[in-house]
Amino acid sequence: MNHAGPLELLIATILSAQCTDKRVNIVTKELFEKYRSAADYANASPAELESAIKSTGFFRNKAKNIRACCRKLVGRHAGKVPRTMEELTQLDGVGRKTANVVLGNAFGINVGVVVDTHVARLSQRLGLTKQKSPEKIELELMTLVPQKQWTLFSHWLIWHGRRRCDARRPDCVNCEIKKLCPQIGLKN
Ligand code: SF4
Repeated sequence: MNHAGPLELLIATILSAQCTDKRVNIVTKELFEKYRSAADYANASPAELESAIKSTGFFRNKAKNIRACCRKLVGRHAGKVPRTMEELTQLDGVGRKTANVVLGNAFGINVGVVVDTHVARLSQRLGLTKQKSPEKIELELMTLVPQKQWTLFSHWLIWHGRRRCDARRPDCVNCEIKKLCPQIGLKN
């Protein structure tokens, strides 16, 4: 997702819930021009913010979370995005996945592995985990992947999941890692 700096990445990640990156990028193009600081979001008119992010879906809840989150940024962190998992996950609308995205990509801090739908699916197909919940998958991946590659590893799986290992129609014939893959859960 397009962003310049931690605050924009945080906002884009909150908006990305149940929404494509493409749609988020369309919305944030104008949004980031209008709202430039945590205070701008904190003081935003609810109706205006809702209207600006409407097409990302669940816009009322997202607008509410963004305003509350940015009020905390202003009140507790001088308007800056904090750099710890503990502080990030105390912000409204920010769970472990969003915090991992921000820490890994905005600050280069590897404290966990982002587990989205692609990472979950590929980890299972590749036989890296039998777990189903993102939290448990993340814990297993953290034991298998070197910590310095946690952020990159998510990007690799997401890239591969989007371009080769589709949920319904994985392109196993042309897959670059076919020799390594036990194809768990696929009918042969
Ligand atoms: S071999 Fe098939 S199931 Fe395994 S990673 Fe490649 S596309 Fe996915």
